[in-house]
Amino acid sequence: QANRIEENAPAATALGYKHDATKVDAKKYPAYAAGKNCANCMLYQGKPTDAWANCAALGGKQVNAKGWCMAWAKKA
Ligand code: SF4
Repeated sequence: QANRIEENAPAATALGYKHDATKVDAKKYPAYAAGKNCANCMLYQGKPTDAWANCAALGGKQVNAKGWCMAWAKKA
């Protein structure tokens, strides 16, 4: 799907985005912790139950609910 972010897109690599948060390099991204993912991020613009939704940090491209990037912020 064209509106889904590619992991190798510059905007994604700049933030260390992975579709699968468990694939995040925790040494390179110490902010990552198990349990953090797009579905529970403030910038995820869908319902937590949506498998894909737009992300404000990634130019309105869709990210995976199970993904993660360094712009993650806890949903209030
Ligand atoms: Fe996922 Fe949040 Fe990063 Fe967007 S900002 S890719 S929703 S962790």
